[in-house]
Amino acid sequence: MMERFSVEEGFSNIEHNLSVIRENIKIAAEKSGRTAEDIKLMAVTKTVEPVFINHAIECGIDLIGENKVQEFLSKEEFLNLDNCKVHLIGHLQTNKVKQIVGKVEMFQSVDSIRLAREISKQSEKLGICTDCLIEVNIGEEESKTGIAYDEVMRLIEEIISLPSIKIQGLMSIPPICENVSDLCKYFEKMNRLFIDIKAKNIDNINMSVLSMGMSGDYKEAVACGANLVRIGSSIFGPRMY
Ligand SMILES: *Cc1c(COP(=O)(O)O)cnc(C)c1O
Repeated sequence: MMERFSVEEGFSNIEHNLSVIRENIKIAAEKSGRTAEDIKLMAVTKTVEPVFINHAIECGIDLIGENKVQEFLSKEEFLNLDNCKVHLIGHLQTNKVKQIVGKVEMFQSVDSIRLAREISKQSEKLGICTDCLIEVNIGEEESKTGIAYDEVMRLIEEIISLPSIKIQGLMSIPPICENVSDLCKYFEKMNRLFIDIKAKNIDNINMSVLSMGMSGDYKEAVACGANLVRIGSSIFGPRMY
């Protein structure tokens, strides 16, 4: 395989990128009346080779996100995960749940009761309780996964009766927008939903994580209330499939 960069160049790019991103997160957090410590930075590691993922972990990354079950399972043994947690962030098929439950800390993209039931069922077999986020299709886009905004509460009410899955918050990917003010409307709508649900103080849910913002829009997401950002290409460079 052709290497575009030497490993050393890759490492120094990751170091540089992380320091720029951390500074940007700090500025955006302050805009929303918070500090950098209030915002969790996830490194999205899909398609990234373990050597670079491990370097990011050495640079202080303690949360990574993978979006495919198979890819994560094939890389897992090469990763230094002693001080780093893993979330599955991609759409999860019900038939893959069994392979991955117990191996990641959280599923960020639960968008149906069928999927939630399977996660609960497989978790129960292992004697664990699995954390999840509800993925909201905030732009009501047909091409996207996630539950419709209007159906979020109904899904939450169904999930809280399941014994071995626990809701920790919300996740969303907004539509591609032509300008920042349109983009922020989606992020703000998510933040209001998050705050409204939290205010209900429902038993067995813990509205603590609002996961939104990727390489192209994490500053806006944080300024609008996100407390977990999922950043891939701005850390590791463009993905090569
Ligand atoms: C790939 C991916 C990201 C990161 O995307 P970048 O634009 O590379 O930062 C974030 N969230 C999800 C769900 C993804 O699949």
